[in-house]
Amino acid sequence: MEEKKKRHLAILGSTGSIGTQALEVVREQPDSFVIEVLSAHSNADLLLKQAVEFKPNTVVIGDESQYKKLKDTLWELDIKCFCGIDALAQVVEMESIDIVLTAMVGYAGLKPTIAAINAGKSIALANKETLVVAGELITKLAQEKGVNIYPVDSEHSAIFQCLTGEFENPIEKIYLTASGGPFRGKKRQDLLNVTKKQALKHPNWEMGAKITIDSATLMNKGLEVIEAKWLFGLAPKQIDVIVHPQSIIHSIVQFEDGSMKAQMGLPDMKLPIQYAIGYPLRLKNNFPRFNFFDYPNLTFEQPDKETFSNLTLAFSALQQGGNIACALNAANEVSVDAFLKGKIKFLDIAEINGSSIEKVTFVAHPNYEDYVATDEQTRIIAKELVG
Ligand code: NDP
Ligand code: MG
Repeated sequence: MEEKKKRHLAILGSTGSIGTQALEVVREQPDSFVIEVLSAHSNADLLLKQAVEFKPNTVVIGDESQYKKLKDTLWELDIKCFCGIDALAQVVEMESIDIVLTAMVGYAGLKPTIAAINAGKSIALANKETLVVAGELITKLAQEKGVNIYPVDSEHSAIFQCLTGEFENPIEKIYLTASGGPFRGKKRQDLLNVTKKQALKHPNWEMGAKITIDSATLMNKGLEVIEAKWLFGLAPKQIDVIVHPQSIIHSIVQFEDGSMKAQMGLPDMKLPIQYAIGYPLRLKNNFPRFNFFDYPNLTFEQPDKETFSNLTLAFSALQQGGNIACALNAANEVSVDAFLKGKIKFLDIAEINGSSIEKVTFVAHPNYEDYVATDEQTRIIAKELVG
């Protein structure tokens, strides 16, 4: 890309698993990308290190207590520094930004993503929770503003890649692949006393703690089903989940003539990240290449929706519509946090999620304020259930 065609990026959540891998991509592709904004929640040391290397225009830290330390050093480097989620929502509107990579975790992604879409910025979306919470609002707004949302999630990137050149051809159904997580094949009885350490040991992917637990409970796949509905405009019955333990086929589209297209490659998030921020180009890179003989068997299984009931909850939230997916997300953020803090057991996560969405006030056609209220109400309900 020529100098003027370099993409100018804002990375929200630059210190996390996706954020640091995105910066690896940028480091390898200096002719294609420039960093305008970096942001984190509280990891000021890493954020500072990244700012020194990538020299963004602006840095935003969520945690106010870290602000002063960061500001003084960045000032000397002529880098602007702000703090708080409201500042983030303003910074993403900066004229110089082309693409906002939403790589923060959880509900916190909603507000800055809305601000970025309103400002006409392309979105490279890793923060799937945003679409789970408010998929209808986000996709409508993006359409109104003519904004593209490029998926970073490997499954959705796979579907997106399979759809290239097929925009006139309706999708019959999609198959989202799932590794099955560390507890694949286990039954409820086996999961009664599993520890946080066991749950955090994902077989194929190195990710942040929240999504790693979501993968172990299959909530991650549930969230991805909802994410897929909004990204690709599908009905729930057009979305299927298939367990594929090797994580080589990242997902599959089946068209109306029965033909199926799959996208495959080694499990490495740098590829979907690069595709999302570099679209439509396939930038040459040195990522390790797939070798068939390392994977002589690619296998497929049915997901066990009884043991991993979060997946059933996600489909049910899609069927119910309204604010239920938003409630499911909020309950899940509370229950996963409680599990990580040792307050509840592994199987309690799905129990609390299920009970919370039954208790929340149903809103059939939520607006932004309804989503905020649903999130707040569900967190209170779920925290009571945690005890
Ligand atoms: P991490 O926990 O590794 O990183 C989260 C990032 O968000 C960090 O930079 C963190 O800052 C920042 N952050 C956390 N809370 C807030 C907040 N309240 N406000 C602003 N920033 C915040 O998560 P991942 O990188 O694993 O995941 C990020 C998103 O991408 C999630 O939505 C996840 O579902 C999705 N995703 C991740 C994949 C992966 O492979 N990791 C794959 C597909 C999707 P700090 O470091 O200071 O805490
Ligand atoms: Mg995924």
